[in-house]
Amino acid sequence: MAYCNKCPYCGANLDPGEHCNCKEEAAEEQSSVVKIEYQFQEKQNVG
Ligand SMILES: [Zn+2]
Repeated sequence: MAYCNKCPYCGANLDPGEHCNCKEEAAEEQSSVVKIEYQFQEKQNVG
């Protein structure tokens, strides 16, 4: 049985049991984007 330790998202080679953190970084980026959008909406409401 061959183990394919390659991240399906970014294609990085991973050690057995290693998890790529590219998705975590993407999630962090998304949450910050949501924060910015939320602040933008608040500003609009004030105006
Ligand atoms: Zn990855």
